[in-house]
Amino acid sequence: MKDKRSTFPLPLSSVTGGAAKPGAYAPAKVATPQTATRNAAHTTVIKPYVAPARVASPSKSHSDALARAQPAPQQTPRADLMVSDAIRRAMVVRVARQGVQDQLVLGALEAVPRHRFIDEALSAQAYIDASLPIGHNQTISQPYIVGRMIEVMRNGGQLANVLEIGTGCGYQAAVLSCVARQVYSIERIKALHELAKNNLRALRIPNLRLHFGDGMLGLPQAAPFDGIILAAAGLEVPQALLEQLTIGGRLVAPVGARVQHLQLITRTGKSEWLHETLEGCHFVPLRPGTV
Ligand code: SAH
Repeated sequence: MKDKRSTFPLPLSSVTGGAAKPGAYAPAKVATPQTATRNAAHTTVIKPYVAPARVASPSKSHSDALARAQPAPQQTPRADLMVSDAIRRAMVVRVARQGVQDQLVLGALEAVPRHRFIDEALSAQAYIDASLPIGHNQTISQPYIVGRMIEVMRNGGQLANVLEIGTGCGYQAAVLSCVARQVYSIERIKALHELAKNNLRALRIPNLRLHFGDGMLGLPQAAPFDGIILAAAGLEVPQALLEQLTIGGRLVAPVGARVQHLQLITRTGKSEWLHETLEGCHFVPLRPGTV
């Protein structure tokens, strides 16, 4: 079913400062560290993003429900809710211009109300293309990198069981829940695990489970996973996580210290993994244990 679709760019000049021509997308210049290398290397002509209006996935009704979700009674209704749909679409158009082409992922980014995962004092910045502080020296990832990592992990296929390491405020977990049948997410900082639970409660996502623990150990009780995403950078990817991939499963992780790159690791056999290095990025460090 692809009726009732409209084609981007939408008439959003009031929030974006001007619309681009369809079919003429060039990667936008962005100054944030997570995209700098990617954009420098990127020359592909990108297909315009088709408005998700209806996300074509088994979880379509779930995405719709997310987009419609009302604040929990204890949350203050925000004045920005009225305009957040349009601003979120503009964010998705920018992410598409930067190179994310997977329509299902773009639809998921449009479905999840990012401003609900950010401190109210920062909510005016919720849809800019940047990582933002969420407390405890951690950040919510930049929308582009969230979309890019999920696109790489999905590779156009169906995802049955996905693990995220580093729940943070819960934003990427909510996006993942729109593209995978079941999602598990682990956080090592108790206060952030609680924050994510609060942020996600009102969205009532049935296929997402949050765990408090050390994600470097993975989640053996829910393994194997056909996709694993790390939202924090280690010097290498823990072997426990590689062992919890299905054969054919794909793991995407930032790797490095001061200089980091996204790595895609595909399990090709019982004891074989294929490593590929992708674009440069900048993430908070992966740390052992819990606090
Ligand atoms: N996924 C988040 C990004 C959170 S930032 C988003 O949606 O934007 C990365 C998170 O990884 C931090 O909250 C940090 O505490 C967490 N982290 C770091 N090492 C970890 C580990 N070993 N296990 C679980 N979480 C970890």
